[in-house]
Amino acid sequence: HTAIVLFTRDLRVHDHPALAAACANAEQVVPLFVLDPHLQRLSANRARFLHQSLADLRETLRRLGGDLVIRTGDPVAEAIKLATEVGAEGIALSADVSGYARRRQQRLEQECEQHRISLRLFPGTTVVPPGEVRPGGGADHYKVFSPYYRAWESAKWRDEVATPARVVLPPEVSPGELPEAPAGESPAAAAGGETEGRRRLTTWLRHVGPYDDLHNDMPADGTSRLSAYLRFGCVSPLAVATAVRALDGPGPAAFVRQLGWRDFYYQVTAAFPAISTEAYRRAGDGEWRADPEALRHWQEGTTGVPVVDAGMRQLRAEGWMHNRARLITASFLTKHLGVDWRPGVRWFFRWLIDGDVPNNSGNWQWVAGTGNDTKPYRRFNPIRQAERFDPDGVYVRRYVPELASVPGKAVHQPWRLPDTVRSGLDYPGPLESHRDEAVWLRP
Ligand code: FAD
Repeated sequence: HTAIVLFTRDLRVHDHPALAAACANAEQVVPLFVLDPHLQRLSANRARFLHQSLADLRETLRRLGGDLVIRTGDPVAEAIKLATEVGAEGIALSADVSGYARRRQQRLEQECEQHRISLRLFPGTTVVPPGEVRPGGGADHYKVFSPYYRAWESAKWRDEVATPARVVLPPEVSPGELPEAPAGESPAAAAGGETEGRRRLTTWLRHVGPYDDLHNDMPADGTSRLSAYLRFGCVSPLAVATAVRALDGPGPAAFVRQLGWRDFYYQVTAAFPAISTEAYRRAGDGEWRADPEALRHWQEGTTGVPVVDAGMRQLRAEGWMHNRARLITASFLTKHLGVDWRPGVRWFFRWLIDGDVPNNSGNWQWVAGTGNDTKPYRRFNPIRQAERFDPDGVYVRRYVPELASVPGKAVHQPWRLPDTVRSGLDYPGPLESHRDEAVWLRP
């Protein structure tokens, strides 16, 4: 018989449980991707990365004897239409957790039932599927990371599945055109695809050793930069975690823990799908100001606080930002400027190639103090953070060329430079803070 594999954010052939099962159980398999105009509109950076990943997946599937069938429109309607055309008996899909993905999944279930097509959901978007570990074995989700992580780490992870040797496409199916890759917005954005993702993983396995020491060091750039490939499933989270866990030492252990954070926010989102717009902890929410001018300076990277501006400019230049800079900039918007976290979520979501609902919103809520497992009164002093994690100012000078002539750590507080030097810099003075500025600008 014939089966359809509906690809969404699992753009790979290695360790792909849905594809492996379809190829094992059906004579003919239709790997399908439906370009959903709604999702394409959200971010030019992600749309571009997606197209590159699709082109790579298509090439790989062709090498396996098959193809990637491309359609445009509503994924549910297109999948059902194609299933009817080819007489497919089943559709296989990797399960996902965002509200949008879950609604799509539910609609697909209903349509499949009506058309007597069997729908099977598979793991593959996380290391441990959301809901597989639960506190006390009950029905609830984990709200605190540490106990989640202990359960996650000691859970039995599924075995990786093999890449299918051959994919047989029904001869009557026309593969459809993949449109030209749309222009992204960030000039230095990473290129998508399983081939590139796996190459980066191989390189990373040689560099993960000092991760524990380096992952907070902003100029060192000592993190994997695998996030976008994980986001689009160009690499399998389980395959990444398994490969790194096989290595010894604090670096690999610290890295696997970060993948645990990723899974943690997926199971939070599965339980609380409104995470992008509603405070997880309502009590911590609601005192935000609307300040369009401050928000605009933050977005443009012109707040006058160099480390904040460097982070915000890295975001736009690369479609990626160092985790430490994400913490500093998010804290600056919410805790210093007092601006609502939701516009912050949206701005990051527009630019980040790795932008996804669980990690973006989960981390924003953690910083804003509205999330689970959060300390509402925590705020990062940007100057102290900068002096600790960018001690010589290398990161700041890399992204804020107006300050390139200011040596060493003096670059973190240009307002302290002698007036004669200061007046020669084309760089704004610090934006008025909503909170007591004297406190947070103290070194
Ligand atoms: P590495 O340090 O190499 O980490 C490896 C992987 O672990 C990452 O690729 C990611 O999948 C996961 N990971 C690492 N840190 C976290 C974390 N704090 N929470 C969840 N997963 C983590 N990450 C996203 O993938 N998408 C987002 O939209 C996103 N938005 C964020 C927004 C804010 C305000 C903050 C503070 C963090 C956000 N993060 C997000 C988490 C983190 O910053 C990125 O995952 C990381 O910087 C990606 O770079 P990397 O792959 O080199 O990370």
